[in-house]
Amino acid sequence: MPRERSGASRPPSGSVKIPPVRVGIGYDSHRFTSRRPLILGGVLVPGAPGLEGHSDADAICHALTDAILGAAGLGDIGEMFPDNDSANKDRDSIQMLEAAVRSLSATGYDVGQVDVTVIAEVPRLGPHRQAIRERLAAALGIDSERVSVKGKTNEGMGWIGRNEGLACIAVATLNRKR
Ligand code: MG
Repeated sequence: MPRERSGASRPPSGSVKIPPVRVGIGYDSHRFTSRRPLILGGVLVPGAPGLEGHSDADAICHALTDAILGAAGLGDIGEMFPDNDSANKDRDSIQMLEAAVRSLSATGYDVGQVDVTVIAEVPRLGPHRQAIRERLAAALGIDSERVSVKGKTNEGMGWIGRNEGLACIAVATLNRKR
């Protein structure tokens, strides 16, 4: 049975005011593996192990896809791209982000801005930050000025501190089209 969604795609009723801005949050984490290259935000990042996962395990794209789908009330990345579907094996996760953006077309909203925090002991994101912003901006169809990418360590604590993997948190706003 399809899940009920309180989505932006629902036709507005007379008594409900359509909000001009909607906000969504996304989270993702993946375990490190030495068997793959590290891809974050669609960019190959040297200097750290890659990430295990069914797709290319791009945690930035996954968190951001969920933030956009969440803002729109359109479910989540696991519904859109099931990890038991062989079509998604090693999939370029930029495609998932692009699909989430395309799914907005029926909602009356566009992506406003996004903000991403990657939590990892390695790699240092600084040298790759601008490339990631530009790659994400192209996928989102917005200017890179509206894409923020930040990196933090976990101060050596817990599973992130032990370099078992990394986590990503993303926030997205959607603006109502005029
Ligand atoms: Mg993921």
